[in-house]
Amino acid sequence: MSSTPTDARLMDGSGLARRLVEETAARAADLTRRTGTPPCLATVLVGEDPASVTYVRMKRARCEKAGIRSRHVELPATTTTAEVVATLEGLSNDPEVHGILLQHPVGPGIDERAAFEAIAPEKDVDGVTFSSFATMSFGLPGFVSCTPGGIMRLLDAYGVDPAGKRAVVVGRSAILGKPAGMMLLARNATVTYCHSHTADLSAAVREADILVAAVGRPRFIKGEDIKPGAVVVDAGYNPGNVGDVDFDTAVTRAGLITPVPGGVGPMTIAVLLAQTVDAAERQLA
Ligand code: NAP
Repeated sequence: MSSTPTDARLMDGSGLARRLVEETAARAADLTRRTGTPPCLATVLVGEDPASVTYVRMKRARCEKAGIRSRHVELPATTTTAEVVATLEGLSNDPEVHGILLQHPVGPGIDERAAFEAIAPEKDVDGVTFSSFATMSFGLPGFVSCTPGGIMRLLDAYGVDPAGKRAVVVGRSAILGKPAGMMLLARNATVTYCHSHTADLSAAVREADILVAAVGRPRFIKGEDIKPGAVVVDAGYNPGNVGDVDFDTAVTRAGLITPVPGGVGPMTIAVLLAQTVDAAERQLA
């Protein structure tokens, strides 16, 4: 466990996620009462990767607690891209399913992008399709990638307005870094992306009023590079419950900081549930 913060205020993702899930459960109950149909999330798991099995089990359990039905489809690791696509198209056309989650990575041999694109945009509650990326980037209504969506809700909850701020995103994956930067840009931040080819990463990080760490390397960002008073959002989750930011040194420089665990992590599933109920509300209207 990290030391008690001296300077920075902690951004409590666990508390915010709990409130979002409570609000989502109330909306799910109301929708079920009004329409006779509970919201339904289809989860698709290809293969038996232990981490993926655990994640899907966790997501389904959270759904159940929030009054969201889940329909689970398990496919063997030998499944072809065409078979995964056919499964997702079937769920996209099934009126009893309101949201679809394809657990990823889907494993070798499957064209993940082709699979994602088989998800109907109106059911893409995990925000993985090209269509969702576009609406998210333009700040238009649609579904957002869940972890970046959780990050933006955290910023809003703590009164951080990205407009006019320098935001630095370290990492550019399709599900995390890239959409996080696009959402900050849509909210009028001046955004810099850093990645494995960035020259002088420290210099870029030192410019950040808002720093999003999404690297996947334990304690990679050091406190000495944090601008005093900056907002530090650590999306990293590495073995041993360690983030991508060196919390103990960063906490003495930042103005606001997310802990790991208990910061960004809990927001991801909460956003998935909220978007599933959004999807059901639109489809059952
Ligand atoms: P990823 O796909 O492996 O992407 C990592 C990114 O970091 C890449 O863009 C990579 O650059 C960049 N990078 C790697 N080494 C670097 C270096 N030395 N200097 C600068 N950039 C470097 O990872 P991800 O899926 O985005 O996940 C990132 C972290 O977030 C992980 O710790 C993961 O566990 C966590 N995560 C948490 C949640 C949650 O719910 N809280 C959800 C998803 C992920 P290149 O593009 O150049 O390779």
